[in-house]
Amino acid sequence: MKDSITALRALQKQLYAYRYAEALISYDEAAVAPPESEAGRAEASEVFARLSFDALVNPGTAALLAQAGQDAEDAQQAAEVRELRRAYDRICRIPAEEYAAFSKLVAQAMPAWGRAKRGNDFAAFAPYLEQIVAAKRRQAACIDPARDPYEVWLDQYEPGLTVARCDAFFAALRTAIVPLLAEIQKRGAPIRTDFITQDWPLAQQKELSRRAMALWGLDPAHTVLGESEHPFTDSLYSGDVRMTTHYHPTDATVSLYSVLHEGGHALYDAHVDPALDYTVLQGGASMSIHESQSRLFENCVGRSRAFVHCLWPTLKELFPAQLADVTEEEWYRAVNRAEPGPIRTEADELTYPLHIMVRYELEKALLHGELAVRDLPAAWNAKYQQTLGLTPPDDAHGVLQDMHWAGGDIGYFPSYALGSAYAAQAMDDIRKTLDVDACVARGDLAPLRAELEKRLWRYGCLKTPDELIGSLCGGAFDPQHYIGYLTRKYTALYAL
Ligand SMILES: [Zn+2]
Repeated sequence: MKDSITALRALQKQLYAYRYAEALISYDEAAVAPPESEAGRAEASEVFARLSFDALVNPGTAALLAQAGQDAEDAQQAAEVRELRRAYDRICRIPAEEYAAFSKLVAQAMPAWGRAKRGNDFAAFAPYLEQIVAAKRRQAACIDPARDPYEVWLDQYEPGLTVARCDAFFAALRTAIVPLLAEIQKRGAPIRTDFITQDWPLAQQKELSRRAMALWGLDPAHTVLGESEHPFTDSLYSGDVRMTTHYHPTDATVSLYSVLHEGGHALYDAHVDPALDYTVLQGGASMSIHESQSRLFENCVGRSRAFVHCLWPTLKELFPAQLADVTEEEWYRAVNRAEPGPIRTEADELTYPLHIMVRYELEKALLHGELAVRDLPAAWNAKYQQTLGLTPPDDAHGVLQDMHWAGGDIGYFPSYALGSAYAAQAMDDIRKTLDVDACVARGDLAPLRAELEKRLWRYGCLKTPDELIGSLCGGAFDPQHYIGYLTRKYTALYAL
């Protein structure tokens, strides 16, 4: 191995160690630490963030990347150079003072957003969001002055993603889903839901999590499930994957579907080729590709008739009293019901992408300078009325519900909807050669896992997101697969 490649590996291992520490700190914060412990954590986090920044952004890195780019001898080494250069180029174009000031702004905006949400007071949060939008516009101009500022941030979460592709995707969704939802509300067959809200004992819910993770094929020697307010998954490396869930004592479906969703993220992280561990290529390739795997397992598999059939004996065994007068078909229909509501994280499979569409249109308008922050609540409510047929009761259940913008994450939301669409297309393609429903119905997910490992999981960031979307989906991305999937499923469910 050439000297430059050896040095590049050493740099990556250093960055890995800082990332490991930061990931442990945030898992600990969410799932373990006592509530009043943020002071010490903030001190430690700041040190690791600084170490990580200094390790990457220094005069030696540019020279090292140039040399390693010439010395790379195989696809993995070339990809390591490509990914490190990408990270370096973005960070080093933003002035150091701007970078530091933005971290501080976000650190202040997050608690301000929390207070504003609790107090239903958008005006108290607006000054922070105005500064965040202005900073994102300035930084986009630093990174690529010739490019649409919103697209610069889309590209951060998914390299290669464009405004044109998102516009076409959401336009196709709107045309198909808005009339379908109206039809369901007008003449859809009613769905029984009375049994969802009742007492679901915690011990049995925890056993259900354990069995669901076993069905997914998650190895308990390398995966752990904790509890946190908002479920999430993070992996330290391919051999240490951390998931969380949140148990609701009166609704067992909330945690069940969180575990199925996070389990999809965990499977992806755990099956990346271990040869990529400790390099920048470890882990998932982009936010929307990661989300494609969680939503594939949560929805395409987890909400399918075949999976409900497979899980039903377990549900009846763990919850005999709660499900005494409930049939398998009633359970299937209840966990698939479509009901427009104001809250994104509580949305069903059909209305979910409409919540994302609203956010996409608004955040794009903010970055294009076409919408002022002070006009955001009214614009939010108007779009909800127009898209989902309802107006949120207040800003806390409207424009203030999500933390993303307060955290500086503008351009992130489309990932959620794109991920669902990649999942639907991948399933269509996989079904050409594998009877997925037959495997799932008998609880054998190994053939599906093998297919996803071959198409996507093992590559980590070795290939570009565009290449991986192609191999996952079995061809160029086409949102009609997702639209077809939703239309077939909901037309049958509501007997339209
Ligand atoms: Zn997710």
